[in-house]
Formats: sequence, C-alpha cells, structure tokens
Amino acid sequence: MMRKGIIAANWKMNGTHTEVTQFVNALATFAAETPGTKPVEVVFAPPAIYLDLAQANLAQQSSNLATPFSLAAQDASQHDNGAYTGEISMAMLRDMNCQHVILGHSERRQYFAETNAVIYEKITAAFNHGITPILCIGEQDQDNQQGKTTDVLTEQLALAIEKLSENQKQQIIIAYEPVWAIGTGRTPSIDDIEKIHQKIRSIFTQNNDTIARDLRILYGGSVNPDNASAIFKCPNVDGALVGGASLKIDSFKQIIKAY
Ligand code: PGA
Repeated sequence: MMRKGIIAANWKMNGTHTEVTQFVNALATFAAETPGTKPVEVVFAPPAIYLDLAQANLAQQSSNLATPFSLAAQDASQHDNGAYTGEISMAMLRDMNCQHVILGHSERRQYFAETNAVIYEKITAAFNHGITPILCIGEQDQDNQQGKTTDVLTEQLALAIEKLSENQKQQIIIAYEPVWAIGTGRTPSIDDIEKIHQKIRSIFTQNNDTIARDLRILYGGSVNPDNASAIFKCPNVDGALVGGASLKIDSFKQIIKAY
C-alpha cells in the first residue's frame, strides 16, 4: 500500500480574510493528480482566526473537491479548557472541523519556549480529541555542523517513541525541518534529506514494519517549485511542509503538482 503524500501550507502569521478565501477556493478545485503522479492530499494551516473562514469556504466547495483537502491549526494548547487566556484547545479545533495540528514547530520552540515535554502533552491532547498531530523536529545549524543531527532528532522523538501506542504511531505525521533551512533558501542535499528521513523512520518505528509502512514523514525548509520534485523523488519523503512558497497560490500549486 502506498502512503498518501501530504503537501501542507503553513502560513505562519500571514494572510488576510480575502487571501484565505482566495487560497481555499483556488486550491479546492485544483486537481493535483494527473495520471502517473502519486496520491496526495493538501493541508492548509492558516492563522487560527481564519480556520472557520477556511472551513466555511471548503464546505462550500466540497462537491467540487478535486483533491483531498483539509485544515490544520499551527498550534493549540495541551489543556482542555479553563483559565488560559489567549489559548485555543484541541476540542475547539475539533469543534471547527479542523483535522490536523502542527506541533513543535521550531518557531514555537524558539520564541515560545516549548519543550519536548510540553509538545508531547500537546500530542496527547490532540489524539484525545481526534486531531492528527504533525510533529515538527529538526536540528540547529550548529548541531548539523557538529554531526549531532541524529542525537537531536532522537531526543525530540523520545517521548513519542516511548509513550504513543502502535496505532498512534501509525497516525502521527512527522515533519523534518532543519531549523537552518527554514526561510533561508538553504536545504540539505537531496542525498542527506533521504538519509535523514530513512533514519527518522527507523528510529521512530524501532523495526516495527507496520508503523514503518504507514508513517508519513514530510520535509520542510525552503521547499519551492524548483527543488520540490527532486525532494519528492526520495523514497522516504512523503510530502512537504511549506512556509514562504505556500503564500503564493501558483508556487504552491506547482509544489503540489511536483509530488
Ligand atoms: P519555509 O518554512 O518553507 O518558509 O522555509 C517552512 C516551515 O517553517 O514550515
């Protein structure tokens, strides 16, 4: 069975009401698959305030959907409800028909001091509410130069490896995003991307063939229309988490087509 690819747009703190509407409408009717290309689904992560708008537009287009299309939040709380001013919960995402949540993005780790422990609590909360986590992992430039990439990734995955059930391990989506590649125009070599994805698959699945077969590992960090098809040729790359290049509908369409 072939793993279905995911091309996800992470808009970060960008976009307007009009742009979100245009993006959903342009992509909902966009046929990603032509004969010969691999199966793929599109995931859109606008700022949380626009999730409802995106969902309403998506619902309107549902009869025209050419490619599976769903929504992701860029983060959510580990708490279910209560006195946490400014936060949104996984239950609320579920209530708004949002299917995925990006967790542990390096910008959350860096600017909001998210630790592996907190991120794991969020993963658990997501699963408890039927939301699929997209767990971001990745090393800093310095770790990379010092040959510590595998150690960093292993540490970031440790709690999930130890505590998730087999079923949850089949469902979680991992996004490998080297921090030094995010928004910089730099990427690891294609060879390195494949090697690291292969490594992540073996570390995370610990020789469990069922999990290894189903686990989807996305690459993120300066994916653009020029480098996407080479990256997608890697057998262990199951799609991409795209930041900057997802803000332009045409670039994002080209990336989807490249899968
Ligand atoms: P980028 O961002 O594509 O702009 O490098 C990727 C991400 O942060 O998810």
